[in-house]
Amino acid sequence: MNNPNLASKGVIQVLFIAAEADPFIKVGGLGDVAGSLPAALRKLDPALTGGYLVDVRLAIPFHGAINTTSREVKPLVTVSVPKPGGTVEAQVFQTEHDGLPVYLISGEPIPPEAPVYSLDTQKDGEKYAFFSLAVLQMLRALNWQPDIIHANDWHTAASVFMLDKLRRTDPFFKLMHSVITIHNLPYMGAGIASALDAFGIPPSNDQRLPEWGRHFPLLMGLSTADQIIAVSPTYAREILTPEMGLGVQDFLNSRADSVSGILNGLDQANWDPSTDPALRNNFSLKTLPKRAYNKAALQEEFDLTVDPSMPLIILISRMDQQKGVDLAINGLRQVTHLPWQAILLGSGDPNLENACRHLEADFPDRVRAAIRFDVRLSRRMYAGGDCLLMPSRYEPCGLAQMIAMRYGCLPIAHAVGGLRDTVLDVPGKPKVSTGYLFEEATAEAVAAALTRAVTDFSDKPGWIARQKFGMQQDFSWTKYAAQYAHTYLKLKEEG
Ligand code: ADP
Repeated sequence: MNNPNLASKGVIQVLFIAAEADPFIKVGGLGDVAGSLPAALRKLDPALTGGYLVDVRLAIPFHGAINTTSREVKPLVTVSVPKPGGTVEAQVFQTEHDGLPVYLISGEPIPPEAPVYSLDTQKDGEKYAFFSLAVLQMLRALNWQPDIIHANDWHTAASVFMLDKLRRTDPFFKLMHSVITIHNLPYMGAGIASALDAFGIPPSNDQRLPEWGRHFPLLMGLSTADQIIAVSPTYAREILTPEMGLGVQDFLNSRADSVSGILNGLDQANWDPSTDPALRNNFSLKTLPKRAYNKAALQEEFDLTVDPSMPLIILISRMDQQKGVDLAINGLRQVTHLPWQAILLGSGDPNLENACRHLEADFPDRVRAAIRFDVRLSRRMYAGGDCLLMPSRYEPCGLAQMIAMRYGCLPIAHAVGGLRDTVLDVPGKPKVSTGYLFEEATAEAVAAALTRAVTDFSDKPGWIARQKFGMQQDFSWTKYAAQYAHTYLKLKEEG
């Protein structure tokens, strides 16, 4: 809540743009962030922002799947998006969510039947090129001059690129600054050059960019953005390296002064073991012993031996190469001399799904594979599992490890990206540890970390200390939204 006793110094105005935002539409993690960060920014206490209020407004495409029956959606304005040889009309609608003004933009390139992300690269390219231009025209039509345009990922990065052209020549845009958040660097917007061309968006001529990337909207936007934010401090450093920079590390290094990292927050009200309706036995820091009922219920549900002393390892993940599911499976196979049970939940790559089923078939007395997407089950698993395996090869931020810690489940994670920034592992010091980290993305490293965890599990006081410290971590959006607000403020003050 804003503190009424603190006179605010002024207002930072921000247009936040994204392909998706919860609760309007959510397909992936970007939807979570775009659905919660703007709301958190609006609610920031000015004491955390140097005395400023943040007037942030959200703009997303008016996807056909957005359900508007439960909210008022008003037509606001129609704008013309320029295109070689003519214009395309964009209709701007206004609605709000929890006090956050939201602009929904529709037009012929955003057909109602199209999914948020389609397999048709050309169509996606046209949709997001159109949207990226439409938001700029919308500002002019509304005569609103935000201090900051904040784009996310490749879909909206062309806005930042075109803003740079406009602000050089058009006084209306002159004082606007730009921010791009990189949620996942590999998705740069490849293959949409002709869609950009169709909307008169030229390729970048920034010589710092590799030739092959000059018509990738993410890279075009990054070349002109005033600030580049990766979704964790460690990921911000990693993308500057040849191992994780995907061929654009030299370019990013040339912009290193403008690259920073801010973690994503967790919706701590939604992920709260003391209120989670999916649990039959809610618990909190103060009632931690009640957690044991959840473990017993989970063992029973999966027809595993109900035994509190048996470490229960869980994996909750997209079945994807990125997530290191193969490393998890092979790591478990290397420590079958130790006592543990495992439940693996996920879906995706059929090879990885099958590898999970094979592990179950080979160890029917202690492994269960649940090959599906099941949020309620995931909640029971976080509440009943002792350790969450998260051996991601790379992890820009990651939410599963934060959820696990809030639920008293200790992450066993590869020390990369957001995992390194959120999991605390100080060997021999359980009171300041929240889980286990390993350095190499190998099955051997997973096995070694599993061995440490299974060994520590028999030291109850140490284990409980780790659980409690994990449950006390603050992963709230407030903390990270304040970091975004400071970034905006710095840009605004630089003029
Ligand atoms: P990513 O966004 O890369 O998949 P994150 O760790 O940021 O990884 O977020 C993953 C989210 O998806 C977590 O909330 C996790 O609990 C959830 N999740 C992943 N797989 C499943 C599944 N099979 N069933 C239910 N929830 C899942």
